[in-house]
Amino acid sequence: MENYQGSCHCGQIVFTVKTDTEFSTRCDCSMCRRRGAIILRCKQDNLKTLSGEEHLQMYQFGANKAEHYFCKQCGIHVFYRLRKLPEQFGVNSGCLDGIDQNTLSPVLTKGSKT
Ligand SMILES: [Zn+2]
Repeated sequence: MENYQGSCHCGQIVFTVKTDTEFSTRCDCSMCRRRGAIILRCKQDNLKTLSGEEHLQMYQFGANKAEHYFCKQCGIHVFYRLRKLPEQFGVNSGCLDGIDQNTLSPVLTKGSKT
């Protein structure tokens, strides 16, 4: 487990996450398919928003269990609360400093089709 700092594109939202890059996922749900991000997971307590909380917008669909957060200004999806494991978050690895996405080996996970 390592600590990383991340941000949305416009930089309003800055956060830190403690995660393990050995395990990453690519979800096939209707939203993740469009977003195309490789996701790193963390426990809720290991994700901290340092600034820009007021710019976070939450989006839900289907079962309305997962909470997808994105920046109101630049539209970048930064992280989401997992539908099946609500005590965990998935973080958009592309938002993190110091991570080369080419070194990740994402596992395909099955998500909501609606
Ligand atoms: Zn932004």
